[in-house]
Amino acid sequence: MIRPPDYVLGIQPYVPGKPLEELERELGISNSIKLASNENPVGPSPLALKALQGPLSDINRYPDGAAYYLKQALSAKLNVSEDELIFGNGSNELLDIAVKTFLRPGDEAVMGAPSFVVYAMAVQSVGGRSIQAPLSNFTHDLSAMADAITPATKMVFIANPNNPTGTMNTKKEFDLLMSRVTEEMLVVVDEAYFEYVTDPDYADSMKYLRSEKNVLILRTFSKIYGLAGLRIGYGIAKKEIILDMNRLREPFNTNSLAQKAALAALKDDEHVRHSREVNEAGKKYLYSELGAMGCSYVPTHANFIYMPVSDSKVINDRLLRKGVIIRPMGPKAIRVTIGLPEENKRFIEALKEAMEK
Ligand SMILES: *Cc1c(COP(=O)(O)O)cnc(C)c1O
Repeated sequence: MIRPPDYVLGIQPYVPGKPLEELERELGISNSIKLASNENPVGPSPLALKALQGPLSDINRYPDGAAYYLKQALSAKLNVSEDELIFGNGSNELLDIAVKTFLRPGDEAVMGAPSFVVYAMAVQSVGGRSIQAPLSNFTHDLSAMADAITPATKMVFIANPNNPTGTMNTKKEFDLLMSRVTEEMLVVVDEAYFEYVTDPDYADSMKYLRSEKNVLILRTFSKIYGLAGLRIGYGIAKKEIILDMNRLREPFNTNSLAQKAALAALKDDEHVRHSREVNEAGKKYLYSELGAMGCSYVPTHANFIYMPVSDSKVINDRLLRKGVIIRPMGPKAIRVTIGLPEENKRFIEALKEAMEK
C-alpha cells in the first residue's frame, strides 16, 4: 500500500462544519445566525455583485493568470510596483506557496500560540518544524518569538491582528522583531483584518518592503471586502520573493469571477467604510453588554471577540441550541464574530441564558 511521508500523516484533516441547513434540521431549529468565521455580516460590496453579472457567461474561458487589471489597480492603491504583488486562492494559498517555496524539511518556523492554525499545518506539509511561542496577555510576544529563533529558523509567522485573540502588535514591537531576524529569513505578516484596524500604533510592515530584511505581507478579500466564498487574497513582498513564489504558483490559481469582484470591491470605499462602522458599533455594544454581565473578553482590533470561558463545549452546545453558531477555541475560550445589530443582540440573549444554567 502506498503511504504518505510521516510528516503528512501527522496532519489532522480539516473537519468541515455541516451546511447550515443540515445543522438546523438536526437541531430542529431555524433562523440560526453564523458568527463563527469572521465573515463580513454586511455582505459583499454591491459594486462587486454588479461586476459579477456580466462575466458569468464567460466562465468557459480560463481566467487571466496574471490578474492584470486587479494587479494594476492594487499597485496604484498601495503604491507598490506590480512585480511586488502576488494573488492567491485566498491568502491561505499564499501561506502554502510561501512555505513550499522557502522551507526545506527540518527547517524551523516560529509562530505564536494560539494563532492561525493554518501556519503549523502549512509548515508540517513540507516537513518543517513549528516552534510555538506562547502569547503574552493574549498578544503575540514578539520578543519571545525573537528569542525562539535558532540557526534552523527560516520563517516567522505573525498574524496582526491575531486570530483568534484579536490583539495587535505595535510599531515598536514589530521593529524590535525585525531588528532580530536575519536576511536569510522570511517574516510573514498576515494582515487579514488590516482594514478593520483603527489604532495609529499598528505596526507598519510595509516599511520593510524594500529593506535588506524579508517580509511577505498577506491581505485578503475574504474579510472586510465580503468575498470569502470567491477565494482571493494577495501578498506584497520585494520582487525577488514574488518571483520565487511565482515558480510554484499554479498558472490559473485565482478564478475570473473572484478577480472581477475583487477589482470592484477594491474601489468601493463606501462599503469598506460602512463595514468598519458597523463593526465598531457592534464592538461597543458587545463590550458594554459583556461588561454588564461580568464576562471577560479580550479587546479586539478585528471583527471578532475572544472570550475566556469556564467550559467552551458546554457554552457552544447551549448557544447552538438557540441557533447561534460561534467558534469554541480549545476547552476554555470561544471566539465570536461581531455581527449585525440584531445578530449581536441574539448572541447576547443566548449567552445570558447559556451562562445562567
Ligand atoms: C480569515 C483569515 C485569513 C484569510 O484567509 P483567506 O484564505 O484569504 O480566506 C488569513 N489569515 C487569518 C489570520 C485569518 O483569520
